[in-house]
Amino acid sequence: MHESREEKDRPYMINMTYKNREDDLIMLSALQHVIFCPRQCALIHIEQAWAENRQTAEGRIMHEKVHKENKESRGNIRIEYGMPLRSLRLGLIGKADVVEFHRLTEDKWQAFPVEYKRGKPKADDCDKVQLCAQAMCLEEMTKTTIMKGALFYGKTRRRLEVVFDNKLRQKTEEAARNIREIIESGSTPAPVYTKKCESCSLVGECMPKTMGKRRSVKSYLSRILGEP
Ligand code: SF4
Repeated sequence: MHESREEKDRPYMINMTYKNREDDLIMLSALQHVIFCPRQCALIHIEQAWAENRQTAEGRIMHEKVHKENKESRGNIRIEYGMPLRSLRLGLIGKADVVEFHRLTEDKWQAFPVEYKRGKPKADDCDKVQLCAQAMCLEEMTKTTIMKGALFYGKTRRRLEVVFDNKLRQKTEEAARNIREIIESGSTPAPVYTKKCESCSLVGECMPKTMGKRRSVKSYLSRILGEP
């Protein structure tokens, strides 16, 4: 893919080896799933499994509420709700809960994405990666650089500012590559039971304890029978 001079000058840009078409894009939400658990990502995006639990229902209602609004202006800030996003470079498509446009000069605005989350800040980077992917979509769409955004958590009622540094951008690109590899392989990774399974909405479909045991019996038999 031909890169413009501006793209080459950006230190965080790393080459993606695939080119994506409009009809080949994957939902932005898959980033969170793949970071949480690659098997969960495959169950949802390959096997089309989805189970709603209290957390996912509350999250869905919160997003629906945010997306209901359309746009508004508050002083030097213009706010767009439910803004469609896509990046052909990352191969992702989705919606931003909120994109604020902060006025810099008379006719220059700086985009600032804000993602709403039901709970509280998480131990891993999955929310930050999702927000960073939104920023990278916006950058591709608006040909600008976005260095910051925010996560708003319903439980703490606070905004957490997120800086889109090189490390977070590379993590986001890696996650996008992982999703594509999983989806293109068409095979669902085997379950590995961890503490995360207790809060996973797909624990009923996945059956990590049973399926994990079945797999170890199968590999034991293969081993003693000398099968590959
Ligand atoms: S139950 Fe555990 S192994 Fe299965 S999808 Fe959920 S997190 Fe992954």
